[in-house]
Amino acid sequence: MYRSDLVGSDLVPPGSLVRVQDEAGKFLGAALYSSTSQIALRMLGGERLEPAGLVEFLHERLLGAIAYRRRIVRDADAYRVVFSEGDGLPGLIVDRYNDIVSFQVLTQAMDRDDIREALLEALLDQFHPAAVVERVEPRIRELEQLPPREDGLRYGETTDTQFTMNGVRFHFHALAGQKTGAFLDQRENYAAAATYAHGEALDVFCYQGGFALHLARVCSQVTAVDSSRPALEIAEQNEELNSEAHGGREIEWMEASAFDLLKDYSTAGRHYDTIVLDPPAFAKSRKALATAMRGYKELNLRALKMLRPGGVLVTCSCSFHVGEEDFLEMLQAAALDARKSPKVIEKRGQAKDHPVLLAVPETAYLKCVILTV
Ligand code: SAH
Repeated sequence: MYRSDLVGSDLVPPGSLVRVQDEAGKFLGAALYSSTSQIALRMLGGERLEPAGLVEFLHERLLGAIAYRRRIVRDADAYRVVFSEGDGLPGLIVDRYNDIVSFQVLTQAMDRDDIREALLEALLDQFHPAAVVERVEPRIRELEQLPPREDGLRYGETTDTQFTMNGVRFHFHALAGQKTGAFLDQRENYAAAATYAHGEALDVFCYQGGFALHLARVCSQVTAVDSSRPALEIAEQNEELNSEAHGGREIEWMEASAFDLLKDYSTAGRHYDTIVLDPPAFAKSRKALATAMRGYKELNLRALKMLRPGGVLVTCSCSFHVGEEDFLEMLQAAALDARKSPKVIEKRGQAKDHPVLLAVPETAYLKCVILTV
């Protein structure tokens, strides 16, 4: 709930539990309060909660989130354990990478000492990790007017490990990399992509090789492109971890701008049987939407042109401002320009450990469409 919707919150201490009621005095639910954010209230639900019971309540929610992962995550020791609002724990992100747990707090309430301590203790108790690491978004701490903190170990000593998803192994360096180190939200899409991938494959925006390493198990040749040298270096190390599964074939890692490379390759008449497009979020705000859609269209148009008959395009957008319908419409426009009429094999989203709430459509942000021409 936005600050502009509130009256009577002037004296509420930062990070406290509040009872929310409408103007007529009807009880709406319990929420966590931020004294500085535009999102002043993050709803916890319709329960009647007392401040003294808050820590225990959040602890129960955390156990619920962990139990859900135990039911739905398959073939992986790396997954998102807590997805903020998606798990009824607004302002908290927790990821597990094998024996390292990484967390991030995004609100005044989740940064309270009593809450941090209780959550840390529960994570230790549930996972017996070798280490717990905190990742900090300095900008968010500033917005929430929280004292600055550094990324760092909150338990244990090691910051490096290896994790496995769908049988593919990855290095994890807890204090490096974008986000918390890897793109867990694509876990199920990696497996889906590998079901349809074949022949010569091109993974565009490959980062540390998430798709490329999955494709290398089933494709005769994989080229993977990213503009980040550090990401490609880890990708190569990941390739070494998995080389036995690649039947002696090497992945070709290329440092390049995706737009330039797709333009050059499509102009040169190159063709592929499988192409993956997984760009960063182009639309960081609503205002950036039109420019973002042009970017998506250009990438998808070139990729569709380069596909051989029977070829597969796995195309993603993690911009939360781009809805599934916008994305499909853009793909249709790209297909028209490319003179192709692709079939939709699958419309997918984020992995199930990033739950989408029926009541909070904003929790769905990742689109992954698999097409064939
Ligand atoms: N597919 C990856 C995640 C991609 S994240 C995975 O599953 O792990 C987006 C990536 O795009 C980042 O690695 C970033 O370095 C890269 N990137 C951003 N702009 C780029 C550009 N113009 N050309 C190539 N890569 C770019």
